Amino acid sequence: MNWLRRMMYGRYGGDQLSWFLLIVYVVLLLLSGLPHLGILSWVALLVLAWSFFRMFSRRYDRRRAENARFLALAGPAIRWLKMRRTILTDREHRYFRCPNCGQYLRVPRGKGRITVNCRSCGVSFEEKS
Ligand SMILES: [Zn+2]
Repeated sequence: MNWLRRMMYGRYGGDQLSWFLLIVYVVLLLLSGLPHLGILSWVALLVLAWSFFRMFSRRYDRRRAENARFLALAGPAIRWLKMRRTILTDREHRYFRCPNCGQYLRVPRGKGRITVNCRSCGVSFEEKS
């Protein structure tokens, strides 16, 4: 692995955006196996090339800025996915959004109609749990 370390010396290496691009590459490659979607294998190749370009880049500042932009864009999506997973796996609570401000709230399940106070905007409303 010495040659690899020498090759990567001074290079930017992997970050979240690089990993995301690799995942996109694999997804595109899988999709390109479907009928009429063969063109996607070329798109996949471009994505892979971009990912490698970033890993071997010496422009740390630019790559970091790109990754920060990516994280700013992906952050809400990642939070949303985590929230979906919590909602799906948590059998003890029921989740819903505050009708006033959109904040996620949870109540214990099976308590009938209860009054909920939003912890974000303070509005109170009735909800079935
Ligand atoms: Zn609220």
